[in-house]
Amino acid sequence: YAKQADGNALRFFDPQMLAEVEQRFDLEQAMSKALTEDQFMLFYQPQITDSGQVIGVEALIRWQHPERGMISPAYFIPLAEESEQIEAIGGWVLQQACQQLQNWQTKSLFSALSVSVNISVRQFYQPDFIDLLAGLLQQYQVNPALLTLELTESLVLTDLDDAVHRMQQLKALGLRFAMDDFGTGYSSLSYLSRLPFDEVKIDQHFVRQSSDGKKTRDWAIVDAIIGIANTFDMALVAEGVETEAQRELLYNSGCFCFQGYLFARPQPVAEFEAWLSSRDLNR
Ligand code: C2E
Ligand code: MG
Ligand code: MG
Ligand code: MG
Repeated sequence: YAKQADGNALRFFDPQMLAEVEQRFDLEQAMSKALTEDQFMLFYQPQITDSGQVIGVEALIRWQHPERGMISPAYFIPLAEESEQIEAIGGWVLQQACQQLQNWQTKSLFSALSVSVNISVRQFYQPDFIDLLAGLLQQYQVNPALLTLELTESLVLTDLDDAVHRMQQLKALGLRFAMDDFGTGYSSLSYLSRLPFDEVKIDQHFVRQSSDGKKTRDWAIVDAIIGIANTFDMALVAEGVETEAQRELLYNSGCFCFQGYLFARPQPVAEFEAWLSSRDLNR
């Protein structure tokens, strides 16, 4: 291999990299087993208004690996996306979310909760995505207005025309859309005006820079995001709210709905239900 001067062959024998490739391969193998062996679960994190009302939850996938313990979605979702397993995993997430909505329909404390689900690029553009959702809404008798699909900027910018087209088809089913992590990508007025989003989520990066509750230079971006959302009549949710000072600063800037550790961490459904029930009794 030493004859090849481009360095690729040499790099192949780097034990560090070989270990990484092996680990990744192992994980991809393990991921395909995880679905059939029931190792995935959804955690739920509430979204709360300034008056203390819980209006919805974000469903966040967790992978409880028998040997490795809990694996973060920030790590395995990108791998799932590359290895095309995201269609199966993402389909499972949607099915679970719809089943949960159906379950909550029958409980008075939970019947108005909306559920937000993260959708990745490959999943969104899979040919039968619209049929899949129509089927799930039908199967679980879900009120589509209670199901929100969270899309990222990079997803919609993959092909703006196609994204608009697909979103319109899905909106025809009655679903809602949230723009996730807004402000971190290529945010621009011109494209947001073309896309039928119902909600904008302010990325936690912007929320976090103001840990002492004072406006930083970057807070101008938050003010701009809030202005954009109001202009287009979109709901606003701030992510990653950890301190009362952050909540207050957001409130004073015109954002009245929050998600973050200040209120609750993502938790399994039973814990979330207990949390919400006890909260309501305390009020
Ligand atoms: P995201 O959609 O932006 O989700 C918000 C992330 O912020 C979650 O991380 C949540 O646990 C975390 N978070 C919430 N409040 C706070 C806070 O106050 N402080 C801090 N430091 N963090 C907070 P998580 O659950 O690890 O998920 C990471 C990302 O993985 C998500 O970011 C989303 O992009 C992706 N993801 C999660 N579940 C799914 C899924 O079912 N499908 C797809 N495609 N992606 C998913
Ligand atoms: Mg999200
Ligand atoms: Mg987010
Ligand atoms: Mg994110």
